[in-house]
Amino acid sequence: MKLLSKLPDVGTTIFTVMSQLATDHQAINLGQGFPDFNPDDKLLDLVNQAMREGHNQYPPMAGIPALRREISSKLESLHGYYYNPETEITVTSGASEALMASILAFVHSGDEVIIIEPFYDLYISAIQLAGGIPVVVPMIAPTDDTPIFKVDWQRVRDAITSKTRMLVINFPHNPTGIRLNQIDLDALEQIVAATDILVLSDEVYEHLVFDGYEHLSLARNATIAANAITVFSFGKTYSATGWKIGYCCAPKALMTEIRKVHQFLVFTVTSPMQHALAQYMKDSKPYLDLAGFYQQKRNRLTQGLATSRFRVLPSQGTFFLLADYSQISDMSEAEFARWMTIEHGVGVIPVSAFYRRPDALQSNHSLVRFCFAKRDDTLNTAIEKLISV
Ligand code: PMP
Ligand code: GLN
Repeated sequence: MKLLSKLPDVGTTIFTVMSQLATDHQAINLGQGFPDFNPDDKLLDLVNQAMREGHNQYPPMAGIPALRREISSKLESLHGYYYNPETEITVTSGASEALMASILAFVHSGDEVIIIEPFYDLYISAIQLAGGIPVVVPMIAPTDDTPIFKVDWQRVRDAITSKTRMLVINFPHNPTGIRLNQIDLDALEQIVAATDILVLSDEVYEHLVFDGYEHLSLARNATIAANAITVFSFGKTYSATGWKIGYCCAPKALMTEIRKVHQFLVFTVTSPMQHALAQYMKDSKPYLDLAGFYQQKRNRLTQGLATSRFRVLPSQGTFFLLADYSQISDMSEAEFARWMTIEHGVGVIPVSAFYRRPDALQSNHSLVRFCFAKRDDTLNTAIEKLISV
């Protein structure tokens, strides 16, 4: 039988490939983004308690009401925007499922969807599975004078056609670590006001914004929020990436369509974790303290690399930072990442993997991504190895 692949250009994701390589070579894994420490004991106890109390059967399709209510009041207190927990919030199997369900719900065959490059790998495949056409708008790459990626909103506007259905954005941004500024939010508002494009906003790193800045959720702008789906992940916020629980929020008419997809993708999401999260979320301290916690780790890695031949780019948010290795090698990013893992015992991710054509010259800027969501002793050991590269 001749199979016709729906995703002929897709292999195994770079995160899985590089984690496997790190395991095979006993390297420290600063590649795939996940903490190497446990969630808070209090949260683990709450899960245990929920299981013992009998919360082990199918919960409601959209998520348990108590959790949706907590999510609603959190978003309202942080961003001043009210999402109705009954009709406008759905608990999903990680942010991944929320993104996939949103794209499948709204993108029809032949619709164009704008994504900004570099981009998280899920978006392009989800668009293709929906029969949509990805329209890739590159960011402005860093230079010696401006060592940070930037979105060129004029290019985004220029990419809009009568077929554009959706714009996908992600701030704080994986892998570049840039955050959204008021100027970006204003540019987005203009776009939304002038068109009927939906905005899919991947905000999984919402609590990881450094140096005293606040995360600007799209929920802060009522014009945008009326046309947007905002997506979040408990995995990042509570150091529990393996639980695969997230949620999305959108106006009722949009959420009705997303739930139609959600109910057939997974129907609902693991019950005891939802009960535990609904309790744990009542305390804002754990998520409000997160930026400070990770900022110290960012600083540790940045300072640790100061005497190395890597040149660190500023990380405004996420638990990633990029480093330029042009003083070390002229290998492609993919080759360099493998070489680092195998020969130097530190697993990293090539930034080119976040490009549509990873092998192209324009996708290679001699940059690799480090994940600093690691214990301090892990970071210290990695730094020792990195200094000698
Ligand atoms: N979006 C971005 C930008 C991510 O980095 C990730 C993965 N860490 C996800 C979505 C998926 O999140 P989850 O594990 O909650 O599905
Ligand atoms: N988002 C994580 C990263 O960027 C990986 C998640 C995954 O492996 N699917 O590293």
